[in-house]
Amino acid sequence: MADPELVDVVVVGLGVGGEEVAGRLAEAGLSVVGVERDLVGGECPYWGCVPSKMMIRAANAIAEARRVDGLAGSAEVRPDWAPVARRIREEATDTWDDTVAVQRFTGKGGRFVRGTARLDGPGRVRVGERVFQARHGIVLGTGTRPSVPPVDGLADTPYWTNRQAIEVEELPESLLVLGGGAIGLELAQVFARFSVRVTVVEALDRVLAVEEPEASEVAAAALRADGVEIHTGVRAERVSHAGQGFTLRGAGGAEFTADRLLVVTGRRAHLDELGLDTVGVDAGRRYLAVDDRLHVTEGIWAVGDVTGEGAFTHVAMYQAGIVVADVLDHARRADAGADPSGTASATGGAAGSGAGGSARVLPRADYRALPRVTFTDPEVGAVGLTEQQARERGVNVQVGLARLPSSARGWIHKAGNEGFVKLVADADEGVLVGATSVGPAGGEVLSALVVAVHAAVPLARLRQMIYAYPTFHRAIEDALRDMS
Ligand SMILES: Cc1cc2nc3c(=O)[nH]c(=O)nc-3n(C[C@H](O)[C@H](O)[C@H](O)COP(=O)(O)OP(=O)(O)OC[C@H]3O[C@@H](n4cnc5c(N)ncnc54)[C@H](O)[C@@H]3O)c2cc1C
Repeated sequence: MADPELVDVVVVGLGVGGEEVAGRLAEAGLSVVGVERDLVGGECPYWGCVPSKMMIRAANAIAEARRVDGLAGSAEVRPDWAPVARRIREEATDTWDDTVAVQRFTGKGGRFVRGTARLDGPGRVRVGERVFQARHGIVLGTGTRPSVPPVDGLADTPYWTNRQAIEVEELPESLLVLGGGAIGLELAQVFARFSVRVTVVEALDRVLAVEEPEASEVAAAALRADGVEIHTGVRAERVSHAGQGFTLRGAGGAEFTADRLLVVTGRRAHLDELGLDTVGVDAGRRYLAVDDRLHVTEGIWAVGDVTGEGAFTHVAMYQAGIVVADVLDHARRADAGADPSGTASATGGAAGSGAGGSARVLPRADYRALPRVTFTDPEVGAVGLTEQQARERGVNVQVGLARLPSSARGWIHKAGNEGFVKLVADADEGVLVGATSVGPAGGEVLSALVVAVHAAVPLARLRQMIYAYPTFHRAIEDALRDMS
C-alpha cells in the first residue's frame, strides 16, 4: 500500500455542496483534494435543477402561446422537443462532460481526483490505491440517488429515473409517472405540454403531499387541464415490461399502461458505501446526522442532500458557507496549537483569509425559513411550516388565505391566473411561521414571505407595509386581512 499523501482537506463528492466547499477552501489557501466519481457539479446541473428548468421554460412557452387565444388573437403551436434536447445537451451539460467544471475547481487551486472515495480510518480517505491523510478535515458531500420502491417486477424493467427523463432525445407517446411529488409533477407537466399522454400514479391521497392541501388541489387541477391523468391513493403492486410497453398494477386491481415508466418516488443517501464504520459513525441511518455546524464527528463535516435537510441546491450552498467557516476556523486553531473543538472563535487565519483576530461567532444552520419551490405552472412556493405542521407543534395557529383570480392582478392576468397566498401565523407571537404562494410567479412572490418568516417580522408591521399595485404579491396583504 502506498504511503498516505498529507493534505489539508479532502472533499468527497463534488456536487453542488462539495464543489462549493472545496473551491472556497482552496481559494482560501488550503491544500484541498476533491474527489468525484461522476461529474463535477453533481445532479443539479446535469440531471436536476438546470436542465429540468430549461424543459419547464420551453413547456411554459407553449402554454403561454396557447393562452393567446382569447387574449390576443390566435396562435398555432407545434411543439418540437428537438430544440429542448439540444439546449440541454449543448448549453446545460456540454453533452454531460464536466471538463469546464473540473477546470473551475483546479483554477481555484484545488487538486482533482476522479474516483470513488471511502473513509479509511480517522482522517484518511482512500480512492482506489491512493490514500490521503487530511490534516484539517474531511467533508462528505455525496448526495443522494433515486430511491426505487420494492415493487414486484420493477427492478427487471428498463424504467426511467430523472436521468433518462432529462437525457431523452425523442419523446415517447405515453408516459407513466410513479410518484406525485415535486419532481414527478414538474416532469409530468413538461411532457404533457409536448403532447405526451401522461399518467401520474401516487400512493398518498394527494399530489405534493408535503405542501398545503390547497396547493395540491391547484397543482392537480393545472396538470389535469394540461391533459395529465392523476390517480392518487394507488399503491403500485407490480410492474411488467413487454414489447415496447409498461404495465403497472395498483393495489385494488387498477392497471395503467404506457410506453415509458418514470420512477420519481424520492431519493436516498447511500451511507453504506462511505466506510463510516472506520470512523465509528453509524451507517445504518437514512442520512448523515449532523449538528448545526454540519459536524458528523471529530474532523468530518457533511454538506448537501446527504444531511437530509431539504434536498435543495440552495440548502447545499447555504450549508457550504457554514462548513467553510468552520473548517477554516478549525484549521486556524490547529495551526495555532489551540483546542480545535471550541464553539465561538476569532475569524481569520488558517489560510490567511480573515480579518485577523476580531472575535466572531461562527454561523450555525437554521432551517426555520427554508424556502422550497415546485416549478409547475402555476409555481408552488412555500416556506416554513404548513398549517398542519404548525398545529402538530402546538402553535396557536391563525390562517389567512387570498385567491389570486379574485385579486386585481389575477383578474387582469386572466388565463393562467390560478393560485393563492396562504399565511400561517403563530397568534401568540404575532409572527408568520409558514406561508405558501402559488401562482404564475409563486416562487418569486415567496421571497417576501421568506423574509417575513426568517426575520420574524411582526404581523402588525406586515400590515403596515405598502404593496405595489397591481402585483401578485399584493395577495399577501389580502391574506393578512383574511387573518384578522
Ligand atoms: C430532477 C431534479 C430537479 C431538481 N430541481 C431542483 C430545483 O429546481 N431547485 C433545487 O434547489 N434543487 C433541485 N433539485 C435538487 C438538487 O439537484 C440537489 O439538492 C443538489 O444536487 C444537491 O447537491 P449535493 O452536492 O448535496 O449532491 P449531488 O448533486 O447529488 O452531488 C453529490 C456528488 O457526490 C458524488 N459521489 C457520491 N459518492 C461518492 C464517492 N464515494 N466518491 C466520490 N464521489 C461521490 C456523486 O457522483 C455526485 O456527483 C432537483 C433534483 C432533481 C433530481
